Amino acid sequence: MTTPDSDAFGSRFPHRDLLGIAGLSPQEIVFLLDLAEGYVEVSRRAEKKQELLRGRTIINLFFESSTRTRTSFELAAKRLGADVINMSVAWSSIKKGETLIDTAMTLNAMHPDVLIVRHPDSGGVKLLSEKVNCAVINAGDGSHEHPTQALLDALTIRRRRGSIAGLEVAVCGDISHSRVARSNIHLLNTLGARVRVIAPPTLMPSAIDRLGVTPYFDLCAGLKDCDIVMMLRLQNERMQGSYVPSIREYFHFFGLDREKLKNAKPDALVMHPGPMNRGVEIDSELADDIDRSLIREQVEMGVAVRMACLDALTRGLQSNA
Ligand code: ASP
Repeated sequence: MTTPDSDAFGSRFPHRDLLGIAGLSPQEIVFLLDLAEGYVEVSRRAEKKQELLRGRTIINLFFESSTRTRTSFELAAKRLGADVINMSVAWSSIKKGETLIDTAMTLNAMHPDVLIVRHPDSGGVKLLSEKVNCAVINAGDGSHEHPTQALLDALTIRRRRGSIAGLEVAVCGDISHSRVARSNIHLLNTLGARVRVIAPPTLMPSAIDRLGVTPYFDLCAGLKDCDIVMMLRLQNERMQGSYVPSIREYFHFFGLDREKLKNAKPDALVMHPGPMNRGVEIDSELADDIDRSLIREQVEMGVAVRMACLDALTRGLQSNA
């Protein structure tokens, strides 16, 4: 974050960039969630186009593939009236640092207002943000952070449960490689939820308790009496070698189905950031159950949250006029 934390920042978000949830105050998180709440209503109207970002240029720079995140940032920017360019960059590990910095400098010279960046290396987006003078949003960096995913998850939960404080939340699956897990842990802890993480020992980071969560190695024990169950995908693209004996065995022990969900509270809700691997981490029929699953709602909230982040970060920018 480029500006120090502030508790009383009025209607201006006190950071140039959104690089992670770690370091944001509860007030700053709630500010973004409240702003997003208004954009849910805008996105449900027949006429969605706003004038707020007219004349602004936003670049989606993705060094890793994405469906939901890239599309929802593009929709969010367009709904706010901005001009949007999408760039998918083929990743060359040989040129790593050079490619990233060169690309940043090139884009910076074109005077974008916001760069939205996804990068396979943890810290890659922060490095890029130091080379440009526009606002930067982290759309996922390696296994580090994915702040807008945690914000949209929080908005989804808050709309269903009224508040985050006091909830028991279980984050389950490939914790080691998941940026979604990290951002959610920071956000949920900051807003007063209690977080458990559930994974096989091979997919649990060794220093996980330093993040203020309770680790479980057994899904049914970890789900006991929880309010929210967040399932994660096996991040095969970040694994070298095999971390689970077989997909069948993984589903047997760590895949969520109705039977295992019975360990949670009777009204517990199920979430997944997508893309979902049906029959691997989650049973297909449960994923589609609109009474228990918030997965579709999460996608809808994604657009509203990204509109709010673009709004908040561009409030602080100098007018280009
Ligand atoms: N879409 C999320 C991410 O980019 C989760 C996933 O890929 O499994 O991290």
